[in-house]
Amino acid sequence: MRLLVHNLLMCNKCDKNNYPLKIEVNKSVIMELEFKKDAILKLIPKLDFEVLSNTVRELGFKQFPKQIPPNVDQDLVFLKDLHRVLFETHIMDGQLTCPNPSCKRNYPITNGIPNMILTEDEQ
Ligand SMILES: [Zn+2]
Repeated sequence: MRLLVHNLLMCNKCDKNNYPLKIEVNKSVIMELEFKKDAILKLIPKLDFEVLSNTVRELGFKQFPKQIPPNVDQDLVFLKDLHRVLFETHIMDGQLTCPNPSCKRNYPITNGIPNMILTEDEQ
């Protein structure tokens, strides 16, 4: 599961305070992918950047900026970091947890795939 996906996912069981899911990573891998500046630039306005930045810094990349840098289209260092974070980093094993204190549903990530499917009695 890429962090781009995490940026979109919310808890399926409850309908408020269900975003962003807390993420725990047991195993992640980097899979190199060709850097395409235009693709990254197009994606930036669609991201919840605050959520992404908090997640990335929680996962240990402390220098990742809290805000999108000014003149972002010329900031190759940032764009390459963002490329690595969004496209090349794959969470293989871990879990997602709903942030709603009255829910806290866990969703396992196994072999790179988050299982967001609710059981029958949860639906
Ligand atoms: Zn929930």
